[in-house]
Amino acid sequence: MVDQMEEVRVTPVAKLWRPRRVLITPDALALPYGQAMLARAEQSGAEVIKLKANRLAGLTGEDARKAYANAKTTLAIVVSPPGQRRLQPIPPSADWQFHIAQGCPAHCQYCYLAGSLSGPPVTRAYANLEEILDSLKAYAGKGTITSKSTERAGEGTTFEASCYTDPLGIEHLTGALAASIRFFGLWEAPVQLRWTTKFDAVDGLLAIDHRGRTRVRFSLNAASVSRDFEGGTANVTQRLQALRKMASAGYPVGLTIAPIMPITNWRQEYADLFLGVAQALQGISAVDLTAELITHRFTPGSKEVLIGWYPKTTLDLREEARTQKRTKFGGFKYVYPKDSMGEMRMFFQEMIATHLPEAKILYWT
Ligand code: SF4
Repeated sequence: MVDQMEEVRVTPVAKLWRPRRVLITPDALALPYGQAMLARAEQSGAEVIKLKANRLAGLTGEDARKAYANAKTTLAIVVSPPGQRRLQPIPPSADWQFHIAQGCPAHCQYCYLAGSLSGPPVTRAYANLEEILDSLKAYAGKGTITSKSTERAGEGTTFEASCYTDPLGIEHLTGALAASIRFFGLWEAPVQLRWTTKFDAVDGLLAIDHRGRTRVRFSLNAASVSRDFEGGTANVTQRLQALRKMASAGYPVGLTIAPIMPITNWRQEYADLFLGVAQALQGISAVDLTAELITHRFTPGSKEVLIGWYPKTTLDLREEARTQKRTKFGGFKYVYPKDSMGEMRMFFQEMIATHLPEAKILYWT
């Protein structure tokens, strides 16, 4: 079959992240998988620091900006905290969230991790991957989110791996996604691995025997949102190329359109995005495609962290332009007002019906 993207596939893949320094704890160094990650990091030319204790120390800088800059150029290879191995539900995406890493090398000015993770945003890769994956088995068949939904129960027990990280952004150093995809491929049960990404280095994943048990979603946005606010990621064209590769390799795929913002010309910009997705998937038969639609929101805590990290940001964080919405933890977040939400929701539904009629919308929030 003639590859219909061939002529437009002119954008080279995004540059891979190269950490400046790599820290490894004694417990992580004792594990073969920790050693394998260290070897990869050494090859990439990073300065390697073997810590004497299992606690990460010395991560702060003279000020918030310096601490941020140091953290974003550091990879720490550690053993995951026991608390993270007790899985929690993650509505509306999945029954369970599990963690193969924490932190991300990119610089999104609206980053979801701001306010939910404490301390400088060092990327931590977990050396006890085998233990992490093994612990998932106890949760199969016990989901209460997608498993209890009439529309989504057919997905089996769903496990989300990208709540605290962008796993593809560090895959060239960790290999954790490939191992997780293989693990789910061999797991003869109704289960699904889910992860979302703003990166594009998927070539190493294409030949894995995934058995349809991994759904990769590409996090996409209007071109100007991506250009203005998503530093250090693959650009939208590169992500669309990666989407095409994964769909061609038979993976169930998805779009995480997030964070949706009513920017100037938002209708045109998002219409262009949907057109781009339709073109990227053209000619691939029987694509299993979902869409998750997430509007921009922030909390007082996340705003404070983001302003510290990106003091010059032009991201619209005006409280007076938003409505307060209670969270289940007793706090609140700022979301777009009801009218604006209704208008955008209708537009996105129409766009998907027009350009991607085969796509199943999982949720709007
Ligand atoms: S890719 Fe995701 S996790 Fe990484 S900086 Fe951007 S929003 Fe944050």
